Amino acid sequence: ATNGHKRKLTVRLCGPRGFCAGVDRAIQIVVLALKKYGAPVYVRHEIVHNRYVVEGLQERGAIFIEELNEIPDTHRDRPVVFSAHGVPKSVPADAENRNLFYLDATCPLVSKVHKQAMRHQRLGRHVLLVGHAGHPEVIGTMGQLPEGTVSLIETVEDAERFSPPEGMELGYVTQTTLSVEDTADIIRALEKRLPTLRAPSAESICYATTNRQEAVKEAAPGADLFLVVGAPNSSNSRRLVEVAERAGARRALLVQRASEIPWAEIGEIAVLGLSAGASAPEIIVDEIIDAFAERYDVTVDLAITAEERENFPVMRPLRDVELTKS
Ligand code: SF4
Repeated sequence: ATNGHKRKLTVRLCGPRGFCAGVDRAIQIVVLALKKYGAPVYVRHEIVHNRYVVEGLQERGAIFIEELNEIPDTHRDRPVVFSAHGVPKSVPADAENRNLFYLDATCPLVSKVHKQAMRHQRLGRHVLLVGHAGHPEVIGTMGQLPEGTVSLIETVEDAERFSPPEGMELGYVTQTTLSVEDTADIIRALEKRLPTLRAPSAESICYATTNRQEAVKEAAPGADLFLVVGAPNSSNSRRLVEVAERAGARRALLVQRASEIPWAEIGEIAVLGLSAGASAPEIIVDEIIDAFAERYDVTVDLAITAEERENFPVMRPLRDVELTKS
């Protein structure tokens, strides 16, 4: 077929999109650990919420586990990497008890939130964490402080219902990957009721989350369809879908690979918005553009709202490996 038979499609490609500095660093840590220490390297929890990345690392000799007790006694000399989402304090403590060698790939921006939560507590404040129950980052942040000293607030309704412990000042932090706008609503609802509530000294939502949402807002108005490359358990990717819908995309969907695009349901589209969550590799974005180019006469239009230069170096023991990288 010639292009003459294809319908025209404008792909509004968001920038920034995809990998953030924290995800990039976590993947590098696993790859460099495999190089330096050989296979297998254990990884506690999916290093990032992306099946493609996880499978790629498995092929190189990474073994994914949920808890440290899954590491067999015969493998206690193998390194174990903690994911970018962060871990409760009990996890490194448990690793030390088991005499395991661990590499903590917690994103420095998540560690910063941990420090802010601890700071609130040091100043005698009860801590409120705005975030989603069950997400590994939330489990990790709550696990920095003794049980019962952090209250999780998921929604504006939670904020309106929350009753603070008697006579205590309050301080909040948030998950790094929330919707900027929803979070502002929740904080407003809390501040209205709780005059002693203190903000963290630095914003918890990270630069990558904010930038990706901004670009989606720019590209979404008038898009017939908006695709976000990301996994269903990726918080920041799911937020991008919501942001796209709210900003005026007719329909927004999360897809992990081009094979998940529901061609039959798409109908007639002239403008496609496209972005990728912080855990989605660029190769899948390319794959999706290629899939559309097979069916449409595609023009790519960039929706760039920021430039990112963040780069988080890996820990010292792995830096020499990087220098001798083949
Ligand atoms: Fe770090 Fe933000 Fe990336 Fe999470 S999304 S790993 S906090 S840079």
